[in-house]
Amino acid sequence: MSRVLVLNSGSSSVKYRLFDGSSTIAKGLVERIGESGGEVADHRAALQGIMDETDLSGLVAVGHRVVHGGPDFTGPTVIDDDVVARVEALVPLAPLHNPAALTGIEVARKLLPDVPQVAVFDTAFHATIPPEGVTWAIDRSLAERWQIRRYGFHGTSHAYVSRRTAHVLGRDPASTNVITLHLGNGASACAVEGGRSVATSMGMSPLPGLVMGTRSGDIDPTVIFHLHRVAGLPLDEIENSLTRHGGLLGLSGDNDLRTVLERRAAGDADATLAFDVYCRRIREYVGAYLAVLGRVDAITFTAGVGENAPAVRAASLAGLEPLDIEVDPERNERREEIISPPGARIPVCVIPTDEELEIAGQSRTALSLPD
Ligand code: AMP
Repeated sequence: MSRVLVLNSGSSSVKYRLFDGSSTIAKGLVERIGESGGEVADHRAALQGIMDETDLSGLVAVGHRVVHGGPDFTGPTVIDDDVVARVEALVPLAPLHNPAALTGIEVARKLLPDVPQVAVFDTAFHATIPPEGVTWAIDRSLAERWQIRRYGFHGTSHAYVSRRTAHVLGRDPASTNVITLHLGNGASACAVEGGRSVATSMGMSPLPGLVMGTRSGDIDPTVIFHLHRVAGLPLDEIENSLTRHGGLLGLSGDNDLRTVLERRAAGDADATLAFDVYCRRIREYVGAYLAVLGRVDAITFTAGVGENAPAVRAASLAGLEPLDIEVDPERNERREEIISPPGARIPVCVIPTDEELEIAGQSRTALSLPD
């Protein structure tokens, strides 16, 4: 038995999945932790509940999803006190995300002291992006002092779907170049060259890049100065607006693309513009990453929107036939694994992501355990 428990601890939730090899034998979600009307008072109670309900015999590892690994964590890392201290030191870089993971780690280490624990970082896959792809052209001394650079996120997803894409196409991942489009509630694009990330659209935080459910994606930073100086909004309010009231929600009033699509079908102008801005941004990144990679062997859509919205897949790539990029309408509607026409030079794929499975696999790798 080679069981791995994967924990994804949010500020008020814990998602868990127990794997035996690659099979899921238990999973669940504890929500509204510490909130009135919630099931449990704190993360400790949440994890204790999960452990009481789940048969953890044969557990060889606990894999923790950690959003921000900063500049130093470049792969899955076996957790000890030093690692905990280093993840704590990264909290200023990820104040919204890392504290929850730390709570999950602390509680799991107490409750399962004999089971090795591994941190798997959303940023780590992007450690292979060359310096010119992570450096912004700002004052270097400021950037170095405050660890300002692109880190990128969704790494476990981009790693997993780019590898799966190569397998689906019968190719070796080490010689396959893929543009991966992770379009979920959060969304990011990644250029993967021979299994290594060489460009990605998120930055120091998960805010820039593609248009998301509630995050703005790329904007001119001057928007922030303007809203602060001219409109008089406090910085916290601007951050809240860009992260929680931007994206599809800001443009249309709805953050769920399903609703946006329904309203667009009924002729709603705001929903139509939201959809157009969303798809146009994807196309801009596809174009950029074609240029970064030079040779592209596949373009892959994944996550909630990428896997379930044929209209987004079609509109994002429409008009790119001169670049040998084409979506076959019937294959797209049926959501086949390959949605480009037979024999296309650049296949377009739809590959369901599985971040927890990837975290389980990477946790085993970090401990040199067999799959
Ligand atoms: P994720 O973060 O990967 O779970 O993706 C969640 C998002 O996927 C939701 O906010 C929806 O906007 C989108 N989504 C899920 N199902 C569909 C669907 N059938 N059509 C369009 N969008 C969908």
